Amino acid sequence: MKTFEELGVRDDLRRAIEELGFENPMPVQEKVIPHLLSEDSDVVALAQTGTGKTAAFGLPVLQRINPEINRPQALILSPTRELCLQIGSDLADFSKYMPDVRVLPVYGGSSIESQIRSLRKGVQIIVATPGRLIDLINRGVVDLSDVHTVVLDEADEMLNMGFLDSIDAILSHVPEQRKMLMFSATMPNEIAKIAKKYMHSPVEFVIGNRNEGAANVKHIYYMVNARDKYLALKRIADNSPNIFAIIFCRTRRDTQEVADRLIQDGYNADALHGDMSQQQRDIVMKKFRDRVISLLVATDVAARGLDVDDLTHVINYGLPDDTAVYTHRSGRTGRAGKTGVSIAIIHSREKGKLREIEKKIGKTFERKEVPTPEHIIEKQLYNLADRIEKVKVDDGQIDQYMQGVSRKLSWLSQEDLLKRVLSLEFNRLLDYYRDAPKIDFIDEKPRKEKKEHEKPRNDKEKDRRTADKGMARIYVNAGKGDGFYAGNLIDMLNHVVDGKRVDVGRIDLMPGYSLFDVPKADARRVVTGLTGADFLGKRLYSEIADPDKNYARASSRKSKGTDASVDPEFAPESTYEYFMKKSRGGAKKAKTKKRK
Ligand code: AMP
Repeated sequence: MKTFEELGVRDDLRRAIEELGFENPMPVQEKVIPHLLSEDSDVVALAQTGTGKTAAFGLPVLQRINPEINRPQALILSPTRELCLQIGSDLADFSKYMPDVRVLPVYGGSSIESQIRSLRKGVQIIVATPGRLIDLINRGVVDLSDVHTVVLDEADEMLNMGFLDSIDAILSHVPEQRKMLMFSATMPNEIAKIAKKYMHSPVEFVIGNRNEGAANVKHIYYMVNARDKYLALKRIADNSPNIFAIIFCRTRRDTQEVADRLIQDGYNADALHGDMSQQQRDIVMKKFRDRVISLLVATDVAARGLDVDDLTHVINYGLPDDTAVYTHRSGRTGRAGKTGVSIAIIHSREKGKLREIEKKIGKTFERKEVPTPEHIIEKQLYNLADRIEKVKVDDGQIDQYMQGVSRKLSWLSQEDLLKRVLSLEFNRLLDYYRDAPKIDFIDEKPRKEKKEHEKPRNDKEKDRRTADKGMARIYVNAGKGDGFYAGNLIDMLNHVVDGKRVDVGRIDLMPGYSLFDVPKADARRVVTGLTGADFLGKRLYSEIADPDKNYARASSRKSKGTDASVDPEFAPESTYEYFMKKSRGGAKKAKTKKRK
């Protein structure tokens, strides 16, 4: 096996990828990199997502850029906005030590004005979805006459999405003497035709098996405390506005319970398991196939009779004992040349099982952080912006009402109007995620020994756990980190505690729990009422506080959010401000580099 250095990768790039933890080249990189760096012929590479293909083309593309020339020199086309952002983000990471190279992702569904401003400032690498690029070309704001390298990523997917004509049009603006590289997960005839039409004596590399279904599957896991598994599931669903998934549970009871909770929380979900009659199961399967429901919670056995091709995710709500079952589950996604995602939501004790599955399937799971509320809201806003842009407007029908409605709303500014439209869609989500905590399992660090001077603090903590005279101190497992404040506590007590109203004494709200006093006679009633109640999706637990017990919980630190996206418009401003700027076409100045 060769090293990156032996493949000809320059030291500034090597330094960056070393920091990312790339030690040795992956097979696709070993084949493609030297070819792109030295040979003249074009390349067709059959490789799925997860094989390291982004670095295979990204590193040589970056190395071929002349930073002195402030014009587009490389063009990377990708079928979707998500992939576009992913590639942009990876290139930004790889070019960490190339300060003069600028990469710009351009894609539909985002402000074209801000993309135009960034283009005017000068970029050397454009990562684009075909439709948006054509739009920019037609407006005369992109000049591709200096482009010497073109990459078509996920070419088969671009064909599926009907982008052939757009690719044709784009390539007519790129000089003939370009180097071209095409990546595809499958090799339909059309791909061979494109290669023949546009490429110069292409060399073909095959990584892994040709047209192999399950190889398209990406394996991801989230690790949370057992009690947070359901919350993690909801966040994953909220983070994928177009989700169409099967959620596998081990038992019929779990299946029904998860489905019931999802339905109660307003999701289009249903259960499929052996306790249901054949007729009931048929109805559910039909609803799922027809997309009336988008989350199907199922046992392995019951799901056997269901054949659907285009699942976006398979979710393992816990891991099965048998690896074959996992393979079976995950093989339900990533079919028909599509990329699939198999997610496992696990608790820390399932790590061993995860490693075992990895060994058997010969693939590694990527650990991801549970999507943060900020990220979810951004994602959903994007989706809404997309829908607003794309909705079909029937002028003929709507026009007759426009005058009246406009008059009624004329007192609202454009800003207020948009605020209200957003609130219609987002109040539920914003309320739910306000102050929502981070729920990833934190691997425990060894405890430090207590120092002498910390003693008084411990006494203070003990005082906090001790009731005032005549009162009982009650513990409940929700705190400020959960958005649980005094008002919520009182409200909760009024709703869930049977019998006459409870008077509440001293309250101490901590990040992950709360302590409060109630009259001794009411203590039992309060504990019974609170335990098992639901606060914004969190199942409450309560007990009479033990002054000697340390209730502090490390995992309740508030999430800081992740800057997972390269899109500069997502910078620190609030989601609402972002949306307003976008709607005015005045999004924040684009800064195409993500620097860590
Ligand atoms: P991709 O197929 O480009 O989506 O890459 C799959 C994953 O492999 C990404 O998370 C990359 O960061 C990672 N990766 C790519 N190349 C290497 C390498 N040489 N060593 C370790 N990880 C890599």
